[in-house]
Amino acid sequence: EKMQGMGAREEKILVLVRLRPLSEKEAVANEVADWECINDTTILYRNTLREGSTFPYTYTFDRVYRGDCSTREVYEEGARGLALSVVNGINSSIFAYGQTSSGKTYTMNGITELTVADIFDYVHKHEERAFVLKFSAIEIYNEVVRDLLSTDSTSLRLLDDPERGTIVEKVTEETLRDWNHFNELVSICEAQRQIGETLLNERSSRSHQILKLTVESSAREFLGKDNSTTLSASVNFVDLAGSERASQALSAGTRLKEGCHINRSLLTLGTVIRKLSKGRHGHINYRDSKLTRILQPALGGNARTAIICTLSPARSHVEQTRNTLLFACCAK
Ligand code: ADP
Ligand code: MG
Repeated sequence: EKMQGMGAREEKILVLVRLRPLSEKEAVANEVADWECINDTTILYRNTLREGSTFPYTYTFDRVYRGDCSTREVYEEGARGLALSVVNGINSSIFAYGQTSSGKTYTMNGITELTVADIFDYVHKHEERAFVLKFSAIEIYNEVVRDLLSTDSTSLRLLDDPERGTIVEKVTEETLRDWNHFNELVSICEAQRQIGETLLNERSSRSHQILKLTVESSAREFLGKDNSTTLSASVNFVDLAGSERASQALSAGTRLKEGCHINRSLLTLGTVIRKLSKGRHGHINYRDSKLTRILQPALGGNARTAIICTLSPARSHVEQTRNTLLFACCAK
């Protein structure tokens, strides 16, 4: 803290932990829930069969959400303020981090919808400003970037623009008309992600999805005049690859290659987040992966970041649940 001088980030990364309920399928399979939120800040491992003393019983965070908390509750307390600062020209990123099946997509889809609805509402209430909302969607799979709003599946290149930093070349950017238009675009993304895949989960466990909402606005009274200034910022909704991809040694062939690349993006993100959480001034290795290159303008600096770590309560997932909690501890 003493080292923080001019331009140091004041804002810590917001780390939230969300425990999902046991699924019906898990309950039917006699799966046991070993994790429990005992209050708003503490999560408890209560397996009496645990072995070894290095395994803590409790983990404490700014906020933990139990299985019966709604996504709206998570959004309102944890993501809303940060996401809506986009209308004031502040970039932000909201991540869902956790193993496959822990609730990343469930959480991120809900938070994206709630944010977009709130922003439409804000736009309607602030007629003194003229707003333009833009939406784009990409997937990073095997370190290849694809446009989820285009049927063209060729990979997109990253370019270094002297003014804007890293940009995704030729990515589709739709101007959002209304709520129905937003829903149409989300459906297109979902359809694109499934193309050529027999198992959607296989792909979603290996790929990162970034939905980006850009809000531009200017005061109407100055429109077209010399002194008109435009505010512009983006909020990124990031549904990460399954965190097991950062730790798993994969078997062979393409799987190994995919695993390695996903390792790279997730591991680089982990390093970047750890450095940012310590308020580091030194070199931050954004350029080591596509994910961190693309998100650089929305990480660190004046940007605001939230990470929602999703957990499965199931006994059979204990190893990955612990890995996610350790990541969450490092990020806060
Ligand atoms: P992931 O994207 O991490 O692989 P999903 O978001 O697909 O996981 O969630 C796995 C399953 O659990 C889905 O059927 C989802 O609807 C359900 N689920 C996840 N989180 C919750 C929650 N908090 N409450 C109820 N059901 C949930
Ligand atoms: Mg998912």
